[in-house]
Amino acid sequence: MRISSLLESKGSVVVTIGADATVAEAVAELENHRIGALVVSADGVHIDGIVSERDVVRALGHSGGDVLDHSVRSIMTTEVVCVSPDAEVESLSATMTDHRIRHVPVLEDGVLAGLVSIGDVVKSRIGELEKDRKELVEYITAR
Ligand code: AMP
Repeated sequence: MRISSLLESKGSVVVTIGADATVAEAVAELENHRIGALVVSADGVHIDGIVSERDVVRALGHSGGDVLDHSVRSIMTTEVVCVSPDAEVESLSATMTDHRIRHVPVLEDGVLAGLVSIGDVVKSRIGELEKDRKELVEYITAR
């Protein structure tokens, strides 16, 4: 299955935050939307970075509670791994494993077009496997 098909069922809304927002504001957004990462973007279209709950936990462990007043810019990752809508979900699964990341923004012509989490990938792969299983059972029982 292609990433574009996955986005058709999941939707293309991406929650973003500006780099100058505080870590406390980022935490509030993660909590409000019940998500694990925010794309950092000034205009909601171009990507400046990504900040995940893991970055927050690392910063808390390193600097303590003061980090909540620091900027998102100070803890975000700027080299963002992205995926094209034409890519296959299976290859994205390998990319996530190789880079040890659980969130990948979808870029179409340089513009933010969605975000795929490891949960979306697992759901899609299980759906495909279940479809294959049903087809095999039908094939066997029809003989
Ligand atoms: P995650 O597993 O997605 O919560 O993120 C683990 C670490 O990888 C954090 O430092 C994130 O900022 C970073 N990260 C998450 N997603 C990406 C991505 N698509 N590209 C680059 N780094 C990322």
